[in-house]
Amino acid sequence: MRIVLLGPPGAGKGTQAALLAKRAGLAHVATGDLFRANLERGTELGKQAKGYMDRGALVPDDVTTRMVLERFKESDAADGFVLDGFPRTIPQAEALDAALAAAGQAVDHALLIEVGREELVRRLAGRWICRACQTPYHDHSAPPAKPGVCDACGGELYQRDDDRPEVVGARLDTYEKQTAPLAGYYERAGKLARIDGLGGIEDVAEKLGRAIGGPAAVAAAHVTVE
Ligand code: AMP
Repeated sequence: MRIVLLGPPGAGKGTQAALLAKRAGLAHVATGDLFRANLERGTELGKQAKGYMDRGALVPDDVTTRMVLERFKESDAADGFVLDGFPRTIPQAEALDAALAAAGQAVDHALLIEVGREELVRRLAGRWICRACQTPYHDHSAPPAKPGVCDACGGELYQRDDDRPEVVGARLDTYEKQTAPLAGYYERAGKLARIDGLGGIEDVAEKLGRAIGGPAAVAAAHVTVE
């Protein structure tokens, strides 16, 4: 199964993509995480991406698409994936479709998690991420047992530079202008499902599971990779 998760920054894409990928036995491919890993390692790609990320803009399509197609070559992505943060523009979606079509594959579902702007700003301001395993936490809705320490792996929690209030507005504007049109793109292809992103993590996970065919579909995806 090949799934695209769409939604504005702060909608819960990262949390839900990780959960869905784990339950369905699919690879979780998060372009933001890939860029941040490159930044930490000081690679050429990381240096190229930094300026765009710092100001809440998108990294150019060709650089981003190349990185994703490289990631697809890893064995865990062979049977399917949950894409988190990609595509973010129409040209990226077209490049994805073309690359999959060349391999006789296609996106099966595009799931759009919808959350209002005021709630997004609130969520991003309280967000913490594990430096080691990328698990997200939130001051109010999902605090770690011990402040500053990841429950999952004991790693250090940090706040992303681009979650600062002065960058958040730009990221939300970028989303509206460049990424929101993807809803129409996938709707025309008959692949879009809109999911209300308010509610608890399990509530939203259940709605996403139903949109791809219910728990049986999630389990079936898992069986194919075992
Ligand atoms: P995220 O963690 O998904 O919020 O992504 C963090 C930042 O990485 C974004 O604000 C962009 O600067 C960059 N980025 C992530 N995914 C993409 C993409 N598909 N296209 C262009 N830039 C991206």
